[in-house]
Amino acid sequence: MSRPTSGQLAFPLTVPPLAPQARQELLGLMRFDWQADAACAGILTGAADPFYPEPITGTNRIANSVNEVAKAVCLDCPVRISCLAAALVTNETHGVWGGASPTDRDRIKVNLALGDPVGVALRANIRPKRSAA
Ligand code: SF4
Repeated sequence: MSRPTSGQLAFPLTVPPLAPQARQELLGLMRFDWQADAACAGILTGAADPFYPEPITGTNRIANSVNEVAKAVCLDCPVRISCLAAALVTNETHGVWGGASPTDRDRIKVNLALGDPVGVALRANIRPKRSAA
């Protein structure tokens, strides 16, 4: 897959599957018990859940990708990389994981398929951790 120029982009983009090497690298980034330290534990509140603003179908998937409440929680989460890696290797298509919306994760997968190293693809598509004030 060669990196397209801006004039070559066609929508909707076809999101390529993870290559085996990228999958292995992502699995290597995951802490096996990461869910125990999830910053969102206990704030998942059913219908008001900012991480899963359902229903997510068709065109409103893009609108739901801008979920600033959930992403703000993820910024300070100690297991953000594990969470994002888990969503990528399981091809999770719903919700905010590791500070990344479904659209963010699609972008990461496209960049990985274009040859970006895993670390570069992750850093380029998620906000940096908040620095202590
Ligand atoms: S990164 Fe976000 S979605 Fe993942 S465990 Fe942490 S707070 Fe929850």
